Amino acid sequence: MTSPLMSVYNRAPLAFTHGEGVWLHGDDGEAYLDCVGGIATDALGHAHPTLVAALTAQAGKLWHVSNIFRIPEQEALAERLTASCFADVAFFANSGSEAVECALKTARKYHAANGAPERIDIIGFDGSFHGRTYAAINAAGNPSYVEGFGPRLPGYIQVRFGDMETLAKHIASPTTAAVILEPVQGEGGARAFSGEQLRAIRATCTAHGVLLIHDEVQSGMGRTGRLFAHQWFEEAAPDIMAIAKALGGGFPVGACLATAHAASGMVVGVHGSTFGGNPLAMAVAIAAFDEIATAPMMAHVRVIADILSTGLNAIAARYPDLVVDVRGKGLLVGVKLVSNNRAFMALARAHRLLVAGGGDNCVRLLPALIMSEDEAREALVRFEATLATARA
Ligand code: PMP
Repeated sequence: MTSPLMSVYNRAPLAFTHGEGVWLHGDDGEAYLDCVGGIATDALGHAHPTLVAALTAQAGKLWHVSNIFRIPEQEALAERLTASCFADVAFFANSGSEAVECALKTARKYHAANGAPERIDIIGFDGSFHGRTYAAINAAGNPSYVEGFGPRLPGYIQVRFGDMETLAKHIASPTTAAVILEPVQGEGGARAFSGEQLRAIRATCTAHGVLLIHDEVQSGMGRTGRLFAHQWFEEAAPDIMAIAKALGGGFPVGACLATAHAASGMVVGVHGSTFGGNPLAMAVAIAAFDEIATAPMMAHVRVIADILSTGLNAIAARYPDLVVDVRGKGLLVGVKLVSNNRAFMALARAHRLLVAGGGDNCVRLLPALIMSEDEAREALVRFEATLATARA
């Protein structure tokens, strides 16, 4: 049967009828332990009662108006976000890619509005992923994202991950506008910058008047055990940050956050969105924020992350023929395999465990932050059983 869908996805032959917490119920009648979490999106699990209540209450009142009016729910969410990080202002979008687009535009516009229009270059890292829109694919470090999509956009430069010397040279260039990085790379294979690297990049950017953009679309909203991954480190905060995914707990919403200074070029008329920040998305995101951004939830994430990383490291030691290493931060976990992560994902499904793929031959575990200790142990049992089958 030919599919009426554009065939851009490598889809598993499995659909789900409903979910609850970290469990997904397949149309094959089986219950699957979900360590994909909608790729780090379903932070509160499936059908979280608080989110369901927020969505249904708002759905009965007002879905959409327009950004030509005040939207009090946007102000309420922006207040929460800016109070919990370096930022002063927020722009709401519908996805991670859109949040990244806004971040890149904010950076270039800042220089244009402040007497340095020649500063256009955006420095990115290999292994990075920033979305599938044109600017996002050009900013990313994987050339396959841009292949066949016409000429590369000018003004995007890639630096090898960890090559701090070349990076410093680019930052010192008078045509550089901004550096964009994921504090913990997600799609690239759960690869984290060290605190030392993040601080050094921050300091070098500041010294040269270059803006620093963090893409925390995947690492943000509590995934690493802090609300934002860069908050593990002092003096590492960016000027601009893109977030999405867990921000809406599964409802499409993204945001670009910035200091007032970095956003000084973003004046009336230079950017916008029809749907961005609509009351429905805002109501769910406010409810999600209030569940996620608490000290007990962050402490819980660290406990579950510790169980997973300790357990996976022990498993890796028992399967040195199949596992290279375990990496990542918090509940953004990567297990680098010796070969073929796609085959592993299919085998894991046979053990009713759902894991995501990732660059560098990784499988990623990105479960909901609300995963229980028992569920984390169950994930480890199924992960090891999958390896045992792979070895057999
Ligand atoms: N940035 C990062 C770090 C991401 O992981 C993703 C999505 N995987 C994006 C941007 C793009 O987000 P979206 O798919 O919502 O456009």
